[in-house]
Amino acid sequence: MCSLDEVVIEASAPSPPTPYVSIAYMYPTDGGQSQGNCEVGCENNWNFGGGGIYGGNVTEVEIINNLTNPCAKSIFEGLRIEMIKKNILQQVMQPTPKVNLTFAESILKLFNDSNTFNLSITNGNLNNSGGSTIGSSITIGDAYLKSATSLSIARTMIHEMVHAYLNTKYANFIDLNDWDFKIAMDKYATDNGFNPNGTAVEKNRFHHEFMGQYVDAMAISLVSWDQKYGTGGITRTDSRGHQTLDWEYYKSMAYGGLYYEDSYGNQIATDSFKALVPNKSDRDIIKNILKNEQDGNGSSKGTKC
Ligand SMILES: [Zn+2]
Repeated sequence: MCSLDEVVIEASAPSPPTPYVSIAYMYPTDGGQSQGNCEVGCENNWNFGGGGIYGGNVTEVEIINNLTNPCAKSIFEGLRIEMIKKNILQQVMQPTPKVNLTFAESILKLFNDSNTFNLSITNGNLNNSGGSTIGSSITIGDAYLKSATSLSIARTMIHEMVHAYLNTKYANFIDLNDWDFKIAMDKYATDNGFNPNGTAVEKNRFHHEFMGQYVDAMAISLVSWDQKYGTGGITRTDSRGHQTLDWEYYKSMAYGGLYYEDSYGNQIATDSFKALVPNKSDRDIIKNILKNEQDGNGSSKGTKC
C-alpha cells in the first residue's frame, strides 16, 4: 500500500536528513551551480526530442496517460500541464534566472526528455492497494479511486512517480550516463543495510527508506498541484490569527507509503520515517491524516475524486 501526500515549497526547503541525495540537487538556489551538482530539475531548456511543442501544439510520446477514470486522468493532466507551462514560460522569458521545477515536474522531465524511457500511468484492479509501479509503468487502484480524495490521489501519483524515477535511474544508469545517482543509491543501501537488487519485498523496502530524502520535495509538488487544481490551498490559523498555508498537512501527506510489511503482514514505519518523525504519537497523527484522505471521510480536507 502506498499512501502519502505531498506539498510544494520554494527555495527555503529544509535540509534532507541524509546526505545521499541533496535537495539542492533539485532546487539549486544560486542559479549558477554547475550541472555536476545538479541532479534533476536544473536546466531551463527542455528537450522535446521525440515529441515537442510546435506552434502551440503539444505532442508528447514519452509520458503516456492511459487513465480511464476521468477524475484521476485530470489530476495527472494537472501535474503534466504544469510541467509544460513552465517550459513555455522559460522560453518566453529567456534569459531568466533558473526557474526551479517542482519534484514531480523534474521526474516528468526525465521521461519527457528521453527518447528511450516512457512513463505510463493507468488504473486497474489492485485489490486494497492505492498504487503500484513496475519499472516505469504506474497503476492506480480502482477501488482506491472510488473512495480517496483528489489530494490523496495526487499524492499517490507523485509517490509512484518517485518509484518509477528510482527504477529507471537505477536500472539504466549506463544509458542515462548517470553513474553518480546509482552509486549514491548503492551507498545508501550498503550503509543502512538494505538490498536494492533483492526480492520485490527487499527492493520495496529500500525504495521506501530511500524516499525519506524526498519527503519535502514530494510535499512541495503536492502543494503546487493542490493550489492550482485541488483545494486551492489548505490553510490553518497561526498564533497571530492569520491564515497560513498548512505546510505540515501537506508534509504529512508526503510521508504516505513510508512503511513496509513485516513477516506477519503488519505495516511497519520505515527507519527513515522514524528518523524524520521520532515520536510515535506524531507518526500516528500523520497516519490518521493519510487514512482520512485515503478514505475520503468527513475528517478529510481534500474533496472526493
Ligand atoms: Zn510505494
